Amino acid sequence: MEVKKKDIRALTKEQLREFFVKQGDKAFRGNQVYEWLWQKSAHSFEDMTNISLNTRQMLEDNFVINHIKVDQMQKSSDGTIKNAVRLHDDLIVESVLIPTATRTTACVSSQVGCSLDCKFCATARLKRMRNLNPDEIYDQVVAIDNESRLYHDRPLSNIVFMGMGEPLMNYNNVLKAIDKITSPEGLGMSPKRIVVSTSGVPKMIKKMADDKVKFKLAVSLHSAIDEVRTSIMPFNATFPLSDLREALQYWYAATKNRITYEYVVWKGINDKQKDVDALVEFCRFAPSKVNLIEYNPIDDGEFQQANPKALDMYVNTLEANNITVTVRRSRGKDIDAACGQLANKG
Ligand code: SAH
Repeated sequence: MEVKKKDIRALTKEQLREFFVKQGDKAFRGNQVYEWLWQKSAHSFEDMTNISLNTRQMLEDNFVINHIKVDQMQKSSDGTIKNAVRLHDDLIVESVLIPTATRTTACVSSQVGCSLDCKFCATARLKRMRNLNPDEIYDQVVAIDNESRLYHDRPLSNIVFMGMGEPLMNYNNVLKAIDKITSPEGLGMSPKRIVVSTSGVPKMIKKMADDKVKFKLAVSLHSAIDEVRTSIMPFNATFPLSDLREALQYWYAATKNRITYEYVVWKGINDKQKDVDALVEFCRFAPSKVNLIEYNPIDDGEFQQANPKALDMYVNTLEANNITVTVRRSRGKDIDAACGQLANKG
């Protein structure tokens, strides 16, 4: 009977050490293998050159290394790179490298598809197929770090969980991946350079606060009026703004970490003075700033970017109320790599 091999990277370092002790080997062997798996990103047991042939064979007999594979890499005219990433079960997710003059940011996926149903987002149409494992999230980051070194001559500097999926609906695995990314045994990156973006799951925001996480929080708000928000983000009916607000106040009290609201202004949806006024009021609940994002069309014409006057009204009103606001231009639009465009075209 064939034994189903285990994914070796699902084991903690301690579990690997115990495995070797049970095999009659030294616990230290576990550290060596762990280092190959995580610091050196080994794709096969063969690569582990300081491990004896017999031991490598024994590992081969018991485990697999479920490494991701970058199937296709597209480069945008603005330097943005989009990776189509093949998982061990042949499902595909996408991740994006976004270069600026001084930084390289990785935008990574947390789920295959998405469990939410935001009307303006291409990923929502895929439905959620499964959660990514911690190592599948980590591998996306490593792949982009390598590309950054290769094409931009510098390591990756920032990570945003703004690819496919809702990170707080795959919270445990996202947390494990971030642990690895920030640990000296992984990439040793500062958690302050990591942003987790959520559509706003109140219970999970509170859990993050209780867990005392050190990364930053961004919330895709898009409207501070329940009726409007529910019409474009239907799950808002289940998690209304009052719950979100309470969770965000809880988050700030526990972490003292300012919140970023991501916000797209659409023609005829949220481009009126009353929409800005509601946003200003929402921003008073907890220290925050607003990031106005350009809309990236997803081909059905239902949503359109508001005209520049509406955008000016937002910027002026927010600034007049001492709320920090930035306007973010899209990157990688020509290769469908911008926010909300990740949907495995082709
Ligand atoms: N599920 C998470 C992370 C993925 S979406 C979240 O909702 O935050 C990353 C960001 O892209 C979110 O702010 C989302 O609202 C925004 N977005 C989705 N579709 C978009 C589109 N077509 N144009 C611009 N931004 C979009």
